[in-house]
Amino acid sequence: MVNVATGRIVAPAEILIEDERIKAVGSAVEHAGVARVIDLGDVTLLPGLIDAHVHLFLHPGSESLQTVEESVPQRTILAMLAARDDLLAGFTAERDMGTEARDRRIPRCAMPLTRVSLSGRVFGSAATPSTFWVATRMPIHFNPAQHVLSNATYANDVDELVAAIRQQHKEGSDFVKIYETGPDRMRDGVLRTPYQYTAAQLRAAVDEASRLGTTVGVHAMGEPGALYAAQAGVASIDHASQLSIETMTLMKQKHIPAVPTFAVFEYFANHGEAADMQRESALLAYKVLQFKKQIAAGIPFAVGSDVGPFRTEPRHASLSYSSNMA
Ligand SMILES: [Zn+2]
Repeated sequence: MVNVATGRIVAPAEILIEDERIKAVGSAVEHAGVARVIDLGDVTLLPGLIDAHVHLFLHPGSESLQTVEESVPQRTILAMLAARDDLLAGFTAERDMGTEARDRRIPRCAMPLTRVSLSGRVFGSAATPSTFWVATRMPIHFNPAQHVLSNATYANDVDELVAAIRQQHKEGSDFVKIYETGPDRMRDGVLRTPYQYTAAQLRAAVDEASRLGTTVGVHAMGEPGALYAAQAGVASIDHASQLSIETMTLMKQKHIPAVPTFAVFEYFANHGEAADMQRESALLAYKVLQFKKQIAAGIPFAVGSDVGPFRTEPRHASLSYSSNMA
């Protein structure tokens, strides 16, 4: 048993559970004669893990077409199965970074996770065609006359941002996610990622979220969007593949964590078409170098997998369920 309070591993270990609550832990615990003993054998026990960046509503395949081809009930069931898989893998708290065009959140009582925070639809600016791109990870060129459902909610200025945040709050979202940067281009070993909102616009969104008792997390691959997000006082800077010294200083001062989401970058660097893998590998190599600088700078980090759009192995071999979502 990993005791995170002391930083020690206790082996062998006993836990006394009463009414679904842990009453006592230690190498041996006192228990009344009525206690049922469950011997878990040679396994490691640790507190529930937290994943600060998941997409319960996405699964491997075309991210853009899932919202077009699959019904809301179908997508909701898949999301619940994904949440169950994550729970069985040890994740008891997650932040869902976008319900991908789904209008309302899953009723909390229906979620198998102990704690799940749902952002609702993601906000993006319609000023650039990039929103759909960053929302779906690949460029989309649908016939505009078809009015294909967007994965993001468009908000072009402060008034639209505030109105959309209020609407989603009313619909039951727990926090706000904003696409601050994209589309991404690697050229000559440098990442370029245009910003979508100014610091003042993000500040207005943070203020409105705070008025409603919640926070804003941003998809920000790099500068200057990451700086604007830090200046605005967001709760997290997700992906964070490129952070300036100024941004990292602010993140340390304001305790804003970066959520690097390495798993998704590694997956796409190793799977897919050759040309895509080459591009993703260059991005990953760049990200690794930047990450080392971020560690050296001492900024706070939170763990986030971005799991959903990529395939993972079943996380617990001894559990008899099968799913390609995790
Ligand atoms: Zn994501």
